[in-house]
Amino acid sequence: MDHTDMGDKLEKILVTNEEIQAKLEDMARQIDADYDGDLLVVGVLKGAVMVMADLVRKIHSPLNMDWMAVSSYGMGTKSSGVVRILKDLDADVTGRHVLIVEDIIDSGLTLAWLKKNLLDRGAQSVRIAAILRKPEAAKVDVQVDYLGFDIPDEFVVGYGLDYAEQFRHLPFVGTLAPHVYGG
Ligand code: 5GP
Ligand code: MG
Ligand code: MG
Repeated sequence: MDHTDMGDKLEKILVTNEEIQAKLEDMARQIDADYDGDLLVVGVLKGAVMVMADLVRKIHSPLNMDWMAVSSYGMGTKSSGVVRILKDLDADVTGRHVLIVEDIIDSGLTLAWLKKNLLDRGAQSVRIAAILRKPEAAKVDVQVDYLGFDIPDEFVVGYGLDYAEQFRHLPFVGTLAPHVYGG
């Protein structure tokens, strides 16, 4: 795939699409081994759209897909752990085995809140799959059951992740050139 038009905006590619697909295959095999059908896969909009689409196509167990959109209140770029639901699930999670699919875990506060919220609503189990994790996340008490890649503490874009709603469509994960965000 050619994204040479992005050449002046990106600094480097951290994870290629080939690496992502291979890792998702491993994650899907693990998920198939762990679940015995009746799985509700919940994608967190908008960042998880790519990972959701690619991951579920590799899972063989029967599943339903649903979506949530959340916004975490907070100053600047760090999330506060106070989360507002912008779009709720269509499905009832009562008694369901839920797998939350996320793009990236940074502070982990959003996912910690989401997991508790779904358990409080009566989900039988809630596990987490994320394609990327930053070092901060290791410090909080949220377990990532299926993890793609640990990455350095840098702001990344692509494969669903945006900067000001740009770059989500890139098939790989990369860092931005400092001039893009005024660095
Ligand atoms: P946290 O884990 O801090 O509660 O928040 C995770 C969310 O922050 C992610 O779902 C994502 O939307 C956003 N986020 C965290 N780190 C990055 C990053 O490096 N790049 C982009 N584009 N979004 C990020
Ligand atoms: Mg997200
Ligand atoms: Mg964003």
